[in-house]
Amino acid sequence: MREKPVQLVSLDVTNSPSGLRAPLFGLDAEALSTLLVSAGEPAFRGKQFAEAMYRQWLSEICEIRTLPSALRAKLAAEGWQIGRPAIARAFQSVDGTERYLVEFAGSAPKGETVETVWMPEGDGGDAGDEIGHEEKDWSRATICISSQVGCAVKCQFCLTAKLGLQRNLTVGEIAGQVVAVLERQAVRVGRDRMNLVFMGMGEPFLNYDNFMAAVRLLVHEVGLSPRRMTVSTSGIVPGIEKFAKEPLDVRPRLAISLNAPNDTIRTEIMPINRKWPISEVIDAVRRVPLRSRERITFEYVLLGGVTDRPEHAREVARLVRRSGLSAKVNLIAWNPGPGIACSTPTPEAVAAFHVALTGEGIPAYIRQPRGRDIFAACGQLKRTVEG
Ligand code: SAH
Ligand code: SF4
Repeated sequence: MREKPVQLVSLDVTNSPSGLRAPLFGLDAEALSTLLVSAGEPAFRGKQFAEAMYRQWLSEICEIRTLPSALRAKLAAEGWQIGRPAIARAFQSVDGTERYLVEFAGSAPKGETVETVWMPEGDGGDAGDEIGHEEKDWSRATICISSQVGCAVKCQFCLTAKLGLQRNLTVGEIAGQVVAVLERQAVRVGRDRMNLVFMGMGEPFLNYDNFMAAVRLLVHEVGLSPRRMTVSTSGIVPGIEKFAKEPLDVRPRLAISLNAPNDTIRTEIMPINRKWPISEVIDAVRRVPLRSRERITFEYVLLGGVTDRPEHAREVARLVRRSGLSAKVNLIAWNPGPGIACSTPTPEAVAAFHVALTGEGIPAYIRQPRGRDIFAACGQLKRTVEG
């Protein structure tokens, strides 16, 4: 049986000084119907709201033309609001990456933001194709989504860790980042190749229920495929165990932030390893039933002098081989951030690490940093307002 998204809307407006109700964005069609019926409207209005918010990406009730205008006026007067997150500021990188500061509606503190990143990938441009002005200059793209404001996991190399955990995002706040970007980029859902990665600010498996409810909303209401979604975790074992039980029609792919060749080094750079060491994480991952040809991704941040030596690569190869998992390794050279005492590995060390892994028969890929100039790359998300 599929779990329903957590009901987050309070029907009571009396406590809200603004008279505004909690946002509707984040509720699925069924929950919307229930809510509208309780407000004296017929159930089919729920479907109309869902269609308007998740397929047409409307962000104001007054724009929903399928509703009679008198009803639109009445709902707005009663304090109903879609309350979708909004892109407050955007920074564009020389490589086409865009970093957005996203602001929330409802009772979210004013000025509080999270970051969402858009990473387009060129199409025939390399082959010399001309791209018309009205054409998109990307053929596939990835949206990187945040799941919390800040993060409670204290990875030594990550800028988001410095914020500490401020709060979990709601279902609507997680899914709304995606819809706001789909609208901005005029994505054609079902036609453009869209990947979603839950690798922004926060640890998705420490906000598990809202994260998964957002995934269900994105699959069932927005129409995106879970096969093109990847969630990354620092290795929260109870989260991985729950994830293993999710039905395949809503389960994203799984990436594990391994980041070290053994428990000693991992505990130094990721103190969470004390609680859930590598072997326990791998045991939990083994319980995730994979689709045919699906692979688990191990992310491996290369820290200069700390995790980037050839002997580390051999140790990682052994670890991955012994896990028996169908897996690949994504190598990420550490992206610098202010106040973090780590160093970026040399290009030679990165290349040698890659060769060592592939030489041991482990599929490995070097991930090029995106949007470093606008602080949009992995581990650089800290609500920086400079472009
Ligand atoms: N909290 C989750 C997802 C967000 S972090 C997790 O840790 O998996 C996404 C990825 O960025 C993780 O693999 C993390 O190890 C990596 N990362 C964090 N800081 C980084 C940095 N400064 N440079 C490169 N990668 C970094
Ligand atoms: Fe949190 Fe992931 Fe950063 Fe670790 S790497 S502090 S889990 S966001």
